Amino acid sequence: MPDGVLGPKRRTIRDVDGLIRAGLAAETDRTRLDSVAEKYAVAITPDILALIGAPDDPIGRQFVPDVAELALAAHESADPIGDEAKSPVKGIVHRYPDRVLLKPLLACPVYCRFCFRREVVGPDGGVLGERELETAYAYIAGQTGVREVILTGGDPLMLSARRLGGIFRRLAAIPHVEVLRIHTRVPVADPQVVTDELAAAMDIETPLFVVLHANHQRELTVEAVAAVRRLQLRGIPVLGQSVLLAGVNDSTAALAGLFRAMLRARIKPYYLHQLDPAPGTARFYVAPARGRDILAGLRGTISGTALPTYIWDRPGGAGKVPL
Ligand code: SF4
Repeated sequence: MPDGVLGPKRRTIRDVDGLIRAGLAAETDRTRLDSVAEKYAVAITPDILALIGAPDDPIGRQFVPDVAELALAAHESADPIGDEAKSPVKGIVHRYPDRVLLKPLLACPVYCRFCFRREVVGPDGGVLGERELETAYAYIAGQTGVREVILTGGDPLMLSARRLGGIFRRLAAIPHVEVLRIHTRVPVADPQVVTDELAAAMDIETPLFVVLHANHQRELTVEAVAAVRRLQLRGIPVLGQSVLLAGVNDSTAALAGLFRAMLRARIKPYYLHQLDPAPGTARFYVAPARGRDILAGLRGTISGTALPTYIWDRPGGAGKVPL
């Protein structure tokens, strides 16, 4: 791991051997699963492993590689939402006039089997070096219409408190940057990483929002909620984002459970994403018409404060539209 990035947990499963030892894969699938793992990174942290009862349960499906990932559908794309087309300098995606994405690294604590950036994320880190970061800051400084910088990746909470604090200081010094946001799965996948030291580094003058990615109520464990609370106690609002996934949360009951669990943890459900057509993800697809029916079932069932916007990221970088 490069300097300033947290190393892998010792007991994190990172290969097919580990999957077989944990009873999550059959020896007979080894060769084909090796091909999957060569193409798309694998990581299952001990916290996530403890939630998996079987490879095809709602948690297992999200993280356990499947030979079906080798099958590519005609409509799938290596860059489904057009990050590349909207990237003026390395690490920046500028899709909307008033905000930019900054991707300081491409490593994650876990690798979701449906990830829309699965072709680029991985344990090698993809960390922006100092010079690349300087170029990214200079780009943002030159774009006076940009009010919000969204740190995403990969997972920015894989950075050390020192490195994250350094990035915040540079962004906060740009006069037109009013708001910062971080997209993360760390509080769910590896809650111990959200230490008091990290929370203190995130306690900054510039308004900072954290958006937590969780797809099933069982991900919001006591430990995950406590990690979220460490951030909230620093005055950091936490929003929730989820992906509508077949076999994970594609029912009114499953989504009601997830969004209620978020509210109990003081997390405001923000977006429910339609699946992006990344390669080998067809087993997670839910048709938008069915998604709308599921959402319609939620109205009147759960509090309006628990309802996110059901959103579709159009291909090629054309941006989000509500479904
Ligand atoms: S944590 Fe986010 S970026 Fe990382 S694999 Fe999962 S969906 Fe992709």
